[in-house]
Amino acid sequence: MQNLDTLLEQALSDLSRTTDPVELEQAKARYLGKGGAITELLKGLGKLDPDARREAGAAINRAKDAVESRLAERREAIQAAILERQLAEEALDVTLPGRGQETGGIHPVTRTLERVQAIFHSIGFSSVSGPEIETDFFNFTALNIPEDHPARAMHDTFYVDAEHLLRTHTSPIQIHYMMENAPPVKIIAPGRVYRVDSDATHSPMFHQLEILWVDEEVNFTHLKGVAADFLQRFFEKEDLKVRFRPSFFPFTEPSAEIDMGCVFCDGDGCRVCSHTGWLEVGGCGMVHPNVFAHVGYDAEKYLGFAFGMGLDRLAMLKYGVNDLRLFFSNDLRFLNQFN
Ligand SMILES: [Zn+2]
Repeated sequence: MQNLDTLLEQALSDLSRTTDPVELEQAKARYLGKGGAITELLKGLGKLDPDARREAGAAINRAKDAVESRLAERREAIQAAILERQLAEEALDVTLPGRGQETGGIHPVTRTLERVQAIFHSIGFSSVSGPEIETDFFNFTALNIPEDHPARAMHDTFYVDAEHLLRTHTSPIQIHYMMENAPPVKIIAPGRVYRVDSDATHSPMFHQLEILWVDEEVNFTHLKGVAADFLQRFFEKEDLKVRFRPSFFPFTEPSAEIDMGCVFCDGDGCRVCSHTGWLEVGGCGMVHPNVFAHVGYDAEKYLGFAFGMGLDRLAMLKYGVNDLRLFFSNDLRFLNQFN
C-alpha cells in the first residue's frame, strides 16, 4: 500500500508536468497502458488471498480513478493552451483599413467611340469592322488611289511585306462591306489605323471613324445634315456652327473639309483654333464613281456620301486634351480623370 501511494504521487506529478498531447499519451502509457505500473498492480491481485485482494483492489482502483481524472484535466488544459496559442498567433487586427480593389475605368477613346456609336445608331447606322492588315488593293486601288498616285506617299505607310500593309485609314472597311452587301448601305466603320508619324498631334497608331451612306436618293444635303447634327449632339451644343470647305480626296467627288466653331473660345479665336475661331474635324464628300465601279455598284443608280474623322481628335476636343500621346501612354494619373 505504501508503494501504491508513492506510485500514485509519482503518476500525478508526471501528468501535471506534461505540456503537449504526445507527452501526455506517453505518461498515460507508463501507468495505465498494457505494461503500465498500475495495470501491473491490478494483474498482481490474483496472487493475494480474497480479503487482501478486495482491499488492495479497491485501493488500486481509487488510484487508477485519480490518475484518469488527472489525465482528463490535463488533456483539457493542454487543448486550451494549444487553442490560445493558435488564437494569439493567427490574430487579425480587424481595425486595420482594408485593401480595397481599384475600380477600372473606360478609356477616353473607347468612351468617345461609345458616344459616337450611340448617336449614329440612333439614326439608323450600324457599326462594322474590318482587318487592320490590308492589301494594297483595299487600302489604295479600290479607293481610287492608283499606283504612283501622290496620295500614297502622303500616307506614310507601314508595309508588312510586298503585298500587305497596316491600313492607313478606315476607308478599306467600306470596300469590304460594299463588296459583300448590296445597297442601301448605312454604316459607320471605326478602328485603328497606322502611319509612320509621331509627335504631339500624331501617333503611329490612332483611331479613325468612317461614315458611309449609299442609296438612290442620297445627296450632299444629307451629308451636311448628318455631319452637323452629329457634331452638335456629340459636343452637346445645339447652336454649334459647322461649315464645309471645298477640298480634294481621291475617293470622293466633290470633296470637302468639315470645320466646326471652336468649342474652346466660341468662335472668338484662341490658341487651340489658331485664332481662326474654327476647328477642322474631318473630311467628306460624295463617293467617287470609280469606287463604286471597284465594288460593283451601279454609279448611275446609286449615290453615297462618306465622311471620316479622327476619333482621338474628337476625344481631345471633347475632353480638352492637348497631347494625343497621353491617350496611349497608359499613365493612370491621366486615365483616372475620366472615371
Ligand atoms: Zn478657339
